[in-house]
Amino acid sequence: MRLQGKMILITAAGQGIGRASALACAAEGAKVIATDRDAALLEGLSQHGIETATLDVTDPAAITGIAGRVGPLDGLFNCAGFVHHGTILEVSDADWAFSMDLNVTSMLRLTRACLPGMLERAAETGTASILNMASMASSIKGFVNRTAYGATKAAVIGLTKAVAADFVKQGLRCNALCPGTVDTPSLRGRIAAAADPVQAEKDFIARQPMGRLATVEDITPLVVYLLSDESRFVTGQAVLVDGGVTI
Ligand code: NAD
Repeated sequence: MRLQGKMILITAAGQGIGRASALACAAEGAKVIATDRDAALLEGLSQHGIETATLDVTDPAAITGIAGRVGPLDGLFNCAGFVHHGTILEVSDADWAFSMDLNVTSMLRLTRACLPGMLERAAETGTASILNMASMASSIKGFVNRTAYGATKAAVIGLTKAVAADFVKQGLRCNALCPGTVDTPSLRGRIAAAADPVQAEKDFIARQPMGRLATVEDITPLVVYLLSDESRFVTGQAVLVDGGVTI
């Protein structure tokens, strides 16, 4: 098993890519701690041997608390994030602050809290891995109506490279994942909220050269790889899995 014996914490694991990643990591032998703001969404994961915990990543005290409780980690997947829709003319200061807080500052805080334990694990085992959720939107390609989202996800890539550079000599790796459009509950919500949902879904699909949305199972193999020792020579990278959008 590719993650046998590894202790991995995942944020936003109640649904979408985070939940699928928790299941995929557990299937590969990891001891997974699946966290989410919404406790009800975590139900059902324990039957797969996954430990669950409520965690709002925008709550600094909760981050300090969980980092102290779980002990040293081999892997951390900072998955939580929010898609703000709008051009720069539609981003209020409050929207911007919310997106920065959830998409970037939460990763800084949780990484800072977990890093000492991860460095201990890296000293013992030779490696530990942090994976930060960025996006294809911002990493290479700009998209309409994604000002706050694209800027915050670009900041995630900067944070990732900084952590990777600072701790590379201590065995800690840090990479960013950059998916294309993935069929998840929040994407379904964005489609449903559009003025013409049928057209909105067609538009999302049309920007994917492979002619379909990604499924969460298109993404999880890369999550497992980047958290496993198979990727031991990979750090500081923004890794795309986008169905050809950025060809
Ligand atoms: P989703 O948006 O459907 O689910 C998000 C989960 O995050 C929910 O379970 C929710 O309860 C949880 N959450 C929200 N606020 C939280 C908070 N403050 N603390 C902890 N948990 C919180 O899931 P998704 O679409 O798979 O998105 C997951 C990540 O992937 C996000 O960072 C998103 O930006 C990124 N992403 C998604 C896509 C896509 O097309 N779906 C593409 C690229 C990147």
